[in-house]
Amino acid sequence: MIEIRDLHKYFGALHVLKGIDLDVEKGEVLSVIGASGSGKSTLLYTINGLEPVQQGRVVVDGVDVHAKGTDLNKLRQRLGMVFQQWNSFPHLTALENVALAPKIVKGKSKAEAREIAAAQLKHVGLGDKLNVYPSALSGGQQQRLAIARALAMEPEYMLFDEATSALDPELVGEVLETMRMLAEEGMTMICVTHEMGFARDVSDRVAFFHQGVMEEIGPPSQIFGDPQSEHTQKFLANAR
Ligand code: ADP
Ligand code: MG
Repeated sequence: MIEIRDLHKYFGALHVLKGIDLDVEKGEVLSVIGASGSGKSTLLYTINGLEPVQQGRVVVDGVDVHAKGTDLNKLRQRLGMVFQQWNSFPHLTALENVALAPKIVKGKSKAEAREIAAAQLKHVGLGDKLNVYPSALSGGQQQRLAIARALAMEPEYMLFDEATSALDPELVGEVLETMRMLAEEGMTMICVTHEMGFARDVSDRVAFFHQGVMEEIGPPSQIFGDPQSEHTQKFLANAR
């Protein structure tokens, strides 16, 4: 599980995370919502050690992410990450893009890595695109390629940072469907998202962030049906 305790993050004088306490259980799907600039991306980056923190801690399956001596490369193998826009290697096919990390990071043989890559591309519905270059894929397909690439490392957790925000509206659905499939398979997921339908239908819990504070967290029925904080109410009124 992921345990976050009294986490504070500053960018210079800017206090971006103001004492976050959060546990994410194995198999849980957590959606993180909130206005732009509220600290959602920064939260994800502190979980996989991409950003240092100034106070508090993040513990992933017993490993203190920000402790001296923590092997961040090893940790990140447990945490797959999908960004808003993922730039695949243009000179490599979809299969080669996905096979890269298993080969280089996990030391799999070329044949094994290709087998893993083909299986994960099929998994995300790109079984017919193995030998295609990224430039020939739609935005939605490129995001599914990004998901396949993360899955090829066999992560315990998947972190999504607005995985559909850069997509044309008609391409959002296929990526959300892929994320929903992973959720149904039992993947532990933290999804920063503006897709309130996804947050409501797929998440076990929804966390609302406001100016670096996790103001509210609960099951979707509570957050969407009976939000307690005035900021959550305002945010949701505008999101609808
Ligand atoms: P969100 O993902 O909710 O939109 P972010 O976590 O990206 O919010 O940002 C939170 C705050 O931290 C914002 O005020 C943003 O401008 C600031 N911030 C984010 N990254 C950096 C950085 N690398 N350097 C300085 N300030 C940053
Ligand atoms: Mg963000």
